[in-house]
Amino acid sequence: STVLVTGANGFIATWIVRNLLEKGYNVRGTVRSVDKGIPLQKIFEKYEDKFKFVVVPDITKEGAFDDAVKGVDAIAHTASPVNFSTVDPQDIIQPAVRGTKSILRSALQNGSNVQRVIFTSSTAAVLEVDPEPRTFSEDDWNDLSVAEVERYGKGVPPVTGYRASKTLAERAAWKFVEENKANIKWDLVVINPPFVFGPITHNVPTLSALNMSAAQFHSIVVGHSDAGGKTPQELRNTGNCWIDVRDLAEAEALALQKDSVANERVIVCAGAFVWQEWLDVANSLGPTFLSSHPDLPKGVPISSSDPGIVHQIQYNTSKAERLLGIKYRTKEDLVKDTFTDYESRGW
Ligand code: NDP
Repeated sequence: STVLVTGANGFIATWIVRNLLEKGYNVRGTVRSVDKGIPLQKIFEKYEDKFKFVVVPDITKEGAFDDAVKGVDAIAHTASPVNFSTVDPQDIIQPAVRGTKSILRSALQNGSNVQRVIFTSSTAAVLEVDPEPRTFSEDDWNDLSVAEVERYGKGVPPVTGYRASKTLAERAAWKFVEENKANIKWDLVVINPPFVFGPITHNVPTLSALNMSAAQFHSIVVGHSDAGGKTPQELRNTGNCWIDVRDLAEAEALALQKDSVANERVIVCAGAFVWQEWLDVANSLGPTFLSSHPDLPKGVPISSSDPGIVHQIQYNTSKAERLLGIKYRTKEDLVKDTFTDYESRGW
């Protein structure tokens, strides 16, 4: 069967495409221009006709995906701006929300074979930043960021605009399904990942073009002896939750296959971190590894009896285990493979 993957040239989407091709699916990937499609075609050339790209120049236009959805059996929608530097939050909210409505409308009107739509949302649509440590679940919604954007407009930090974009896009998706349920022949699955790290398989000509989450990992853990400018204190008290990009791609493939996940919202998360924990993992990988990474930042290693480490945000991941049966890579797997990948690129 054929899966349409939107934003196919992105960090996560290119892994989703690879995983699906390896499983024998045909994949049609949307990109914004031919010059973004050609490198993808090269990456997947061994799959010959099983991978094709189509150009959708503006995902916010009504009917943008009308041709792209024709004949596909499922859709994985990932295209959305991931950017923590926009001044006007509407610059990312509008494409996120309109792009989501647009693909669902096209799926409804032109996707006569479509059985399932998977939407890559985010834990940004789940978490509300709280002074106290908190464990969130699929019942939680980040309406706070939306309210802050409504109240302060351009005055909100860019990360708030991003979080609002994911909340509003996911809400729009569920609303669309609710309003059109009498006519929809497919179901919706929403996957909510936290920070996504790991090796890359998409086309990144220079380090400066790396996507946001991988760039942050590179800058703090891999790239510089100064840990991306974070103080030892910040390394120990800032963090979030994470998933390896390859496990996320597998989760999306599982979400295509499992009946029980229909119309569910599912948080996928391997665990929590503070940045120091990634440094400690890297510094524990043995003398061969360390001798080839003399610049590896150390920070202040966390000892097993350290009382000072708090994971401010955590997720209840039992639903993903129950419905998807997902297995997660460890921090060690991720660090080893990511360093190896970056080394091969001279980063
Ligand atoms: P990338 O930046 O690598 O990829 C984003 C994709 O979306 C690219 O194909 C990009 O196309 C496309 N896109 C961005 N803005 C627009 C726009 N205005 N119109 C059309 N297409 C657009 O990001 P990721 O792979 O990291 O993210 C993919 C998805 O996963 C997003 O929905 C993101 O919110 C979600 N996610 C990511 C997390 C992470 O840590 N990385 C965590 C949780 C969720 P182009 O190359 O042309 O700009």
